Amino acid sequence: MPQLILHNANIHTLDESRPHATAITIDGDRISAVGDDQIILEAAPSDATTMDMRGSTIVPGLADAHGHMRNFGMMAEMVNLRHAQSYEEVVELVRERSQATPVGQWIQGRGWNQENWSDKSLPTHALLSEAVPNHPVWLVRVDAHAGVANANALRISGIPGSTLNPAGGIVGKDKDQPNGLFLDKAMDLVRSHIPDITVEKSKELLLAAQELCLAVGLTQVHDAGIDGTTLQAYRELVAEGSLKIRVYAMLDRDYFDQTDVSPIQEGLFSCRSVKIVSDGALGSRGAALLAPYSDAPYESGFMLLSRDDFDATVGRALASGFQVNTHAIGDMANRVSLDVVETALRKHGVSDHRSRIEHAQHLHMDDIPRFAKLGVIASIQPTHCTSDMFMADSRLGPQRTPGAYPWRKFLDSGARIVSGSDFPVESNNPLWGLYSALTRQSHDGQPSDGWRPEERLTLYEALRSFTRDAAYASFQEHELGSLSLGMLADLTVLDTDIANEPPQALLEAKVMATVVNGEIVYKNNLTPNL
Ligand SMILES: [Zn+2]
Repeated sequence: MPQLILHNANIHTLDESRPHATAITIDGDRISAVGDDQIILEAAPSDATTMDMRGSTIVPGLADAHGHMRNFGMMAEMVNLRHAQSYEEVVELVRERSQATPVGQWIQGRGWNQENWSDKSLPTHALLSEAVPNHPVWLVRVDAHAGVANANALRISGIPGSTLNPAGGIVGKDKDQPNGLFLDKAMDLVRSHIPDITVEKSKELLLAAQELCLAVGLTQVHDAGIDGTTLQAYRELVAEGSLKIRVYAMLDRDYFDQTDVSPIQEGLFSCRSVKIVSDGALGSRGAALLAPYSDAPYESGFMLLSRDDFDATVGRALASGFQVNTHAIGDMANRVSLDVVETALRKHGVSDHRSRIEHAQHLHMDDIPRFAKLGVIASIQPTHCTSDMFMADSRLGPQRTPGAYPWRKFLDSGARIVSGSDFPVESNNPLWGLYSALTRQSHDGQPSDGWRPEERLTLYEALRSFTRDAAYASFQEHELGSLSLGMLADLTVLDTDIANEPPQALLEAKVMATVVNGEIVYKNNLTPNL
């Protein structure tokens, strides 16, 4: 394959030895030169393809360090409840869908958020069951930590009034009868009755998600929890040559615990980490807190697994060369997750473990320095902060908010942070993530100085968390994360110089091309010779 030379570009390399360049040479899947137009073009072999980038900006390929590919692909098939302003509106959207769905077939919806409704109480099934009696319905909250089922789904799932709360979950009840609401682990009581997704269907959903990710400039996704079916789907996509985005996958704990797996590296797909979910989320008050919620004095959330199970999985993971990536939102969950890793490291003595805490949202001050001390990476989602900041005020209260989304404190303590979006919970657009990291403001600029603005990141820090540190967090920093000689050619081309424009420009910036492994896998309005 002839060399591809991109020139007349504004290249931010994130390589300290050469932070800026105007031309880059791609030879196969790797970068073979980075420099200035004149030198690069003079050295070009006669058969090289040259492309005038007309001043567009190039950054290292952006990675989303925490997303859910298959769920994202499935979003298109589910009823989108994200913008519903009331439970009545949710019910109406589902009723509309039911008219186009064969009787008896499951209808799934996702994205409701009672915090956006005037009545902020969690929904129950009555209204839904009345409007949609002939289809089983399952509607998951925006954070995926709560779901509501209608009467038809309750009947299929066979949930009697005597059902007890499973460990790590709550079955909502009114007068001793299930009211349709299920929190965290209790959601499995309904979910396990929804027909499984096949490998074939999973491939279709992953490819749909891949298109949506390449189009926003993502070159890599850390898929935050996959089951055996999804793993099989990825491997088939690699074998067929249709995986075009780089994927670093975390295995679901259930699958990891039941299977004898070794780290996998096949083409653009790699998998050497296990995802453990230790608590719920703030919105449904499932995040495990050390002290009760400020807006619900008798609730403090709950841990989703026992300390023994937690220790066992982490011990086995570290001993078998797997990275441990633990979902922890509340200060209690973060503390326990750090304790478990600390104990396991003492026992197994793994030096290069790169354990991660996914979300690392609400920390007790004493625990923040433990990340750097233990070598634990904080895997954050900047947009979670800007979507949830006002809710965090009421859930946590003023005493605790200094430990909420404490990005600057992490960096100052010497910890490493990586960024993602948790799509489909949030938009997968990494430029929106950068905007949130820089401003801690909503898209309409609220609050005017940013929410706890002392925790904002600089553009360089934020960009690092989407590139170099994401590469480190997936053991790929020698191959990915900066535009340097010999690195794999993953890059994102933008129409806006994000380094020299105000943060608002990130909201409007367009992706012109996405390059993975030297191949242009997405392009939009790029010069016609491509
Ligand atoms: Zn997630």
